[in-house]
Amino acid sequence: MTSKQEKRRRAALVEAMVAEDTKKAIEEMPLSLKDLGRLFDHLDFQLGIQGCDHTPRITSSFLVSLNLDTDEILPWLSEQGGSCDCEILANVEDGWESEIAKNT
Ligand SMILES: [Zn+2]
Repeated sequence: MTSKQEKRRRAALVEAMVAEDTKKAIEEMPLSLKDLGRLFDHLDFQLGIQGCDHTPRITSSFLVSLNLDTDEILPWLSEQGGSCDCEILANVEDGWESEIAKNT
């Protein structure tokens, strides 16, 4: 096997692993991609108006308005670097943007 082929083979393996990880991550997320996308839109808009007070206040009231479980979702967001509204938009959105675009 040439090293070029080997490189291609490894790249395909990594790609498959990432796809598998993404699938698993989506299965384990405590809210749907659709609701997550709506949350990011809402944060984008609300942070522009009122700014972040370094709590997940806007996120929390949005989740409650959708009847979603804040006890599950807030820790999940904070695990991904989003412990307040502006961090959720800055740190969590990046990781999910492409999946949201693909799935909604
Ligand atoms: Zn903040």
